[in-house]
Amino acid sequence: MTIMSYIAVILFALLAYLFKKLTKSGLIMASFVGASTLFGFGIQGLFLLAVFFISSTMWSSFQKEKKGNGIVEKGQQRDGGQVLANGGIAACMAILYGLFPSPYLIFGFVTSLAAANADTWASEIGTLSKQRPLHIITWKRVVAGTSGAVTAIGSAAAFAGSFLIVVCSIFFWWSNTSHSHVLLLVLTIAGFAGNLIDTVAGASIQVVYRCKECSVETEQLEHCQEKTERISGVSWINNDVVNLICTASGALIGIGLGIVFV
Ligand SMILES: [Zn+2]
Repeated sequence: MTIMSYIAVILFALLAYLFKKLTKSGLIMASFVGASTLFGFGIQGLFLLAVFFISSTMWSSFQKEKKGNGIVEKGQQRDGGQVLANGGIAACMAILYGLFPSPYLIFGFVTSLAAANADTWASEIGTLSKQRPLHIITWKRVVAGTSGAVTAIGSAAAFAGSFLIVVCSIFFWWSNTSHSHVLLLVLTIAGFAGNLIDTVAGASIQVVYRCKECSVETEQLEHCQEKTERISGVSWINNDVVNLICTASGALIGIGLGIVFV
């Protein structure tokens, strides 16, 4: 890849920063993820990254006024931790592929992004569900936006989000195998499974805080201008760590199923 392509990646990240889609740390990490992807998978890799970025940003903006319940920890500006949680595994796969080209690393790259996209679509679209979501472990109804909550529409959105990434990646691997049409489904399932593991982790080990003032359960460290207290979960397992679990498990399942089917 020419130096111009790398400059274009950084300019694009800078543009996202100027339009307040990224914080400063988000800008740095997005440049790293973009440059790594370019190194390993060239323009085709960047295209897939763009599909993830544009489609998830689009859903975040969709019916935004209905989503402001204050449960989610962070705003619309993605910071470095969020970017790495969603794109860090893909960046690792790309760097590894640049050094040791193996089709399994393509599957890992694609399914980590498919899992990230499934998760984003599920949470952005699932939040709009008219039915109150079910907690994936206790199976009780909880407030929309709670980690570990599932809705029918959210699960359908997760599958569609994963499928979109896999379809858009088809030119990477279609000729690799005689099972190409099966892989289309298998890789979509890998992305969906990553999201499922994310939901289970969100429902079990992810840290939950409670506001001492209004006693609402939240992912935020502060609520009603006071520090919140931890009521369950592991203190360092925040939303970013759960998203990293999502993309890592998506990649591992994608590689595993790739080995089985190729
Ligand atoms: Zn409060």
